[in-house]
Amino acid sequence: ERRKLIAGNWKMNGLHAAGLELATDLSKRLAAAGTVGFDMLVCPPATLIHPVAQAVAGTPLAVGGQDCHVKPSGAHTGDISAAMLVDAGCAFVIVGHSERRQNHGEDDALVAAKAAAAHAAGLIAIICVGETLEQREAGQALDVVASQVAGSIPSRADAANTVIAYEPVWAIGTGKTATSADVAEVHAHVRATLAGRIGDPDAVRILYGGSVKPSNAAELMAVDHVDGALVGGASLIADDFWGIAETC
Ligand code: 13P
Repeated sequence: ERRKLIAGNWKMNGLHAAGLELATDLSKRLAAAGTVGFDMLVCPPATLIHPVAQAVAGTPLAVGGQDCHVKPSGAHTGDISAAMLVDAGCAFVIVGHSERRQNHGEDDALVAAKAAAAHAAGLIAIICVGETLEQREAGQALDVVASQVAGSIPSRADAANTVIAYEPVWAIGTGKTATSADVAEVHAHVRATLAGRIGDPDAVRILYGGSVKPSNAAELMAVDHVDGALVGGASLIADDFWGIAETC
C-alpha cells in the first residue's frame, strides 16, 4: 500500500512572516491530528527553506526545494545544489517542473541529471512530467508523458528516493483539472512505463498536479495509481491545503 504524499509547491510566493505562519500552522494541524493517512511536504522559495525547516523541525511536516543544480558546488551564479538543500533542512526536491522545462529550457537529460544529483545528496526527487494542451489535442499525451518518464529517471532510482508527479501543463494554474478518466489513463501508463526503469516500480508514488483544490481532491485522490497531489495555488492557503490532505 502506497502512502499518499500531499506536497505544496509554493513557487515564487511567500515572504518571511507569511511563509513561517503557513508552515507553522500546517505543522500544528499535523501534530494535533495524530495518526494520519498521508505524508505532508511544503516546498517554499529558496529564501524561506531554512527558516521554515527550523520552524517545523521535529514535526512530521517535511520541507523540499523547488529545483537543484546538477553539480554539488562551483561557479554557477544563482543556482542551488542538492547538498545545500540538505544543509538547509530539505528531505525532498522537485525537479523538471513544467515551469522549469518551459521557462528555463530544461530537457529530460538535464532533469535526470538533477534527480541523480538529488539522490547523491540523499534527497527524494519529485520528477515532474506532463503534456501541453497542443500535445493532448494531437492525441500525444500518453506518448509524451511516457517519453518524459523514461528520459527523466536516472540510474539507481527506486521507490524510496523517487516520486513521479504528473502535471498536465494545461491544468496548472488554470482552474482546469483533468477528468478522473484522463488521470486514470495517464497514471496507469506511467506505472507501466516505470517497470524495468526503476527499483520496486509498484511502490513508486505517482502524484497528480494541476488545479487541485479541496472540492476536487477527493475524486482525484480516489483514482487508481494516484498516490497524492502536487499542489500550487491551493497550497498557499492553510485551510485549502489541509482540506486537500484530509481527503486522503
Ligand atoms: P496549481 O495547483 O496552482 O494549478 O499548480 C500546480 C503545480 O504546478 C504544482 O507544482
